[in-house]
Amino acid sequence: MKFFGAHVSAAGGVENAPRNAGKIGATAFALFTKNQRQWSAAPLTAAQIGGFGAACAELGYAPAQILPHDSYLINLGHPEPEALAKSRGAFFDEMARCEALGLDRLNFHPGSHLNRIAPERSLDLVAESINLALDRTRGVTAVIENTAGQGSNLGSSFEQLAYLIERVEDRSRVGVCIDTCHAFAAGYDLRTAEACDRTFAEFDRIVGFRYLRGMHLNDAMKPLGSRVDRHAPLGEGQIGTECFRYIARDARFDDMPLILETPDEERWPEEIALLKAFAGER
Ligand SMILES: [Zn+2]
Ligand SMILES: [Zn+2]
Repeated sequence: MKFFGAHVSAAGGVENAPRNAGKIGATAFALFTKNQRQWSAAPLTAAQIGGFGAACAELGYAPAQILPHDSYLINLGHPEPEALAKSRGAFFDEMARCEALGLDRLNFHPGSHLNRIAPERSLDLVAESINLALDRTRGVTAVIENTAGQGSNLGSSFEQLAYLIERVEDRSRVGVCIDTCHAFAAGYDLRTAEACDRTFAEFDRIVGFRYLRGMHLNDAMKPLGSRVDRHAPLGEGQIGTECFRYIARDARFDDMPLILETPDEERWPEEIALLKAFAGER
């Protein structure tokens, strides 16, 4: 099965996210389980957890269709001990919130070395952070997102994702989410079916499709290899429509959340319908 959706609002409570997804015809969704611009949040209440579960059951969203995203403030590779501890504490809490909601994965950006330590040392801190988080939770997979490689952000190459996975002790609970805009900005061509064949063969060789737990489907405003993270509506950026048809028709992307983070949310129903139509072509 193909599950398409978008990163929907959870304003007013997590239980509103599945409702917002249902309204746009989504069969998958992403959400923040807390305000993504704040360090801490009140614990989820029993009523919120119950409401979320009831809405997901009513609308037919299973954990494999839901990709929660952590706060943008968190840097699991932070070079300074105090800041690293703060990020780790917030990440442990995010993992616990997913566990409380009965969700099985948490999507996060690896982190940044901030030009203060070598990228490998920062990646080692990220891997250690993942191991610590997995020790403290049950049933939630840490899903590392590839990045555009902007500034000192880690995780723009498949090699760096593989480097992290290699250092995770429980590999049954680590995965990756590939963002098409970020991959393209990092230099992986996706503009034609042949380019997609090559890029995903490289992904499979270096990381492995067995680790793929979700995708972010975004077109890219900036050219190939720009290292700039600017999303565009599907078919209106530098990647173009063919990549999204390719993913919709390819069984390697079945049974996982395929999430739009495109800029114009008014257009999500239309973009989801387009993806569903592509999937129907196979
Ligand atoms: Zn993304
Ligand atoms: Zn992005």
